[in-house]
Amino acid sequence: MHKRQHRKASSITTRNDKENQGFDLENEKLLKLVIETAPDGLIIINESGIVLVFSPAAERMFGFKAVDIIGENISLLMPSPHAQNHDGYLHKYLTTGKNNIIGIGREVTARKKNGTLFPVELSVGVLPRQKERLFTGFLRDLTTHRTSENQIADLQNVLIQLARHSAMGELATTLAHELNQPLTAIANYTLATHKLVADLHSDEQTRLALDLLDKSAQQAQRAGEIIRSIRSFVKHHETKFRWENLEDAVCEAVKIATLGTGNHPINMQINKPGPIPDICMDRIQIQQVVANLVRNAVDAVRTQDGEHLIDIEISRHGSRSVIVRVRDNGPGITPEVEKRLFQSFNTSKPDGVGVGLAISKTIITSHNGDIRGRNRAQGGAEFYFILPIDSKAEETSS
Ligand code: ADP
Repeated sequence: MHKRQHRKASSITTRNDKENQGFDLENEKLLKLVIETAPDGLIIINESGIVLVFSPAAERMFGFKAVDIIGENISLLMPSPHAQNHDGYLHKYLTTGKNNIIGIGREVTARKKNGTLFPVELSVGVLPRQKERLFTGFLRDLTTHRTSENQIADLQNVLIQLARHSAMGELATTLAHELNQPLTAIANYTLATHKLVADLHSDEQTRLALDLLDKSAQQAQRAGEIIRSIRSFVKHHETKFRWENLEDAVCEAVKIATLGTGNHPINMQINKPGPIPDICMDRIQIQQVVANLVRNAVDAVRTQDGEHLIDIEISRHGSRSVIVRVRDNGPGITPEVEKRLFQSFNTSKPDGVGVGLAISKTIITSHNGDIRGRNRAQGGAEFYFILPIDSKAEETSS
């Protein structure tokens, strides 16, 4: 019944509308055009929740044709419990003026014709009219937005895992290096003592002492082997070299590195002066390097007041390489850090670990590339890495 009653009202150019709103023909045409071309979905309902206008963008979003939905209750487009409660929400607003949505705009779940639920951003306005109020809802489909947010979160997790992995590798390498010498010394001293004691006596107690010395030599050797095996375990992360679009990889990594910096606006630019060929690389690892460099640049510029500038450039470097530069207008690299740049546990930050640059160096070296950092004449720092276009070819030719 509702359907028939309101079918007429659905037309955007009804007589009633003309009389009530005093639209002239030009305004009506314009309004119709705006509704038909608006990228966001527009739905107008009356005080009973009956749909009067259902724009083409809303048709695409929900999979309903306007003729199917006009005259029906808006709750058809909602999942429960909102579908059952919507009439109640409207009634509450009409009697008390209280509501949770008008003029606020928020994310809600909507229901397509085929039953699929999807996220939309909904803003509702009220059109005051003489007899009854109309409610206009503008809807933006957030599905793609949400998917890319999920993709970013997935990638971020991979990067975090990899960072931990690489940090463990760096730690194990440093430990192996640092512990190797004292362990070798212990093994040598033990063997020497063994020899000395064996030459002196041959009684039962001496045999016991020799046995214990053998055991301690074995344990020293075992400790060395454990460290070596941890090192080779963490080093054997399987790298995946593929032909990749470097610009895409860099842009994605920059997005990740700057997540959460919204409260401190940074003027970030990514330039690519000319075409860049695909690069044979491990995408995740290279993204980790870029994310490290950008994160460091963000940390650096934030230590100062004034405009924060970070400039990233991707360009060709000779005929067989590309270069990625990250420049900032921060305070520059301190002399103490500069002396040991790219070495593990070298940090000037109160909560820094100092492995980011060391990991980056390991990654770039495994790509047969080069990474460097320096202070810029005009202030700030510049870090850059050079990657051969085909690092596998470099490997076989060198
Ligand atoms: P962390 O960020 O944990 O300190 P890194 O290895 O990534 O570890 O960086 C090591 C050090 O290098 C930093 O603590 C900082 O002193 C210096 N550094 C890195 N990037 C910059 C930069 N863009 N500007 C100034 N100093 C930097």
